[in-house]
Amino acid sequence: MSGVTKDSVWGAGTIAVRGGEAGPWPGGATQVPIVNSVAFGYDDVDRWHEVALGMRAGHIYSRNTNPTVAAFEEKLRRLEGGEAAASFGSGMAAISNTLWALLKPGDRVVSITDSYGGTSRLFLEFLPKYGIRADLAATGDPGALEKAVGQGCRLVYVETPTNPTLKVVDLRRAARAARAAGAILVVDNTFATPIIQQPLALGADLVVHSASKFLGGHADVLGGVVAGRRDLVDTVFKYREINGAALSADAAYLLIRGMKTLALRVRQQSRSALVIARLLEKHPAVSRVFYPGLMSHPGHDVATAQMRGGFGGVLSFSLKGGFDAVRQFLPALQLAHLAANLGSVETVAGPPRTTSHVELSAEDREALGIPEALVRYSVGIEETADLVSDLQQALGTITSG
Ligand SMILES: *Cc1c(COP(=O)(O)O)cnc(C)c1O
Repeated sequence: MSGVTKDSVWGAGTIAVRGGEAGPWPGGATQVPIVNSVAFGYDDVDRWHEVALGMRAGHIYSRNTNPTVAAFEEKLRRLEGGEAAASFGSGMAAISNTLWALLKPGDRVVSITDSYGGTSRLFLEFLPKYGIRADLAATGDPGALEKAVGQGCRLVYVETPTNPTLKVVDLRRAARAARAAGAILVVDNTFATPIIQQPLALGADLVVHSASKFLGGHADVLGGVVAGRRDLVDTVFKYREINGAALSADAAYLLIRGMKTLALRVRQQSRSALVIARLLEKHPAVSRVFYPGLMSHPGHDVATAQMRGGFGGVLSFSLKGGFDAVRQFLPALQLAHLAANLGSVETVAGPPRTTSHVELSAEDREALGIPEALVRYSVGIEETADLVSDLQQALGTITSG
């Protein structure tokens, strides 16, 4: 059983604009209002009781549910095609609450070596303290994942494409392996977004997001969300009610506002990313380009089979001159914020050596296939031609040492 539902025939771009916004809102407002109220009042004590018992629709207290937050959850639920969704104050809150709610001492998790840094730390540092073991299979090697899952586990956790070398995990094969082992498959869909990849339709039970990235899209709001099978989302939601990692109404409003343009942004970012990846592949200062849209990418065929309409807005590439070249190149970019985030309307660039993988040794990065001179480049919605000229001029400033 996977948490897929079909609500309407709307395409993703339409759901992004209109999904979850039905209202009715006060005064006939056409836009979802920011409902900044900790609690919701009732004149009728019996009605209040029915809402509290979940027998009647309504809101009681904003740590549990809130109208603005519910609109965001519904929009994302429909985009991912899930049965239910629950939101959180950050992506890591969504991921950690999902794991804490669904696992118990003695359980085993199988994941991949290239998970997001915070997620890896949950697997390697925090879950083991409570008797939950995590084994990480080599990313992009379906055989290794299947073997680890086949040894028995409660939960399989993957992301694709991965950070920072854009490795691709075959979601259909991961789903088959999880099902055969009686395990839940959770997929972090942050990099791809539901516009170009829908893990639930490929057999995942749950999909999680850092909404702080592409969903919000403007690098001005933190959030997280989980969607998929209703029974699992309910379990996670009940834990979140007590754990308290709720999304605020202000944040939910910014996410709703940002998501209206999600389809436009992601399609444009994917188009530009492919143009840029192809160009960098031929540039003499660049030693290697990592982008699933390139024929040279080892995961290209799987990516083509499970993504549609593009390969995402993030790519990475290594420079020939080593980290000295990165030191010269990055500050020479005029159209990129040098920062740790991604998925924004503005282009963002940074070296994994100082951002996502700063805590690893050079040997550990080498083992993960992360070159020391790697640059992660999250393509914004600026004109493709302007980004291309900016990259060319910045690459031109590298003096070979
Ligand atoms: C950023 C990110 C997260 C964590 O999300 P936050 O909103 O920063 O807590 C998780 N997974 C991926 C793939 C990310 O890029």
